[in-house]
Amino acid sequence: MKYQCKTCNFHWEGTSQTFDEVRDHEKTHLKNKTTVRCKVCNASKSMIDVEHNSDEKWECQNCGNILDMQGLISS
Ligand SMILES: [Zn+2]
Ligand SMILES: [Zn+2]
Repeated sequence: MKYQCKTCNFHWEGTSQTFDEVRDHEKTHLKNKTTVRCKVCNASKSMIDVEHNSDEKWECQNCGNILDMQGLISS
């Protein structure tokens, strides 16, 4: 199996057992991927397809607080 990334010059050649390398590589090109950081315990979480200024909520896996995209506790 061969793979040539459309976005950069990454090449991969191997078997389906190592195809995870390609999937991991493709993740590096995902758009709208952002990392939010919990202001309470400083844990970070990768969010995909979320606008940083949206009012979406997320739960910190570390301290369990419900936080907004700025990492502040959501009321
Ligand atoms: Zn690439
Ligand atoms: Zn936290």
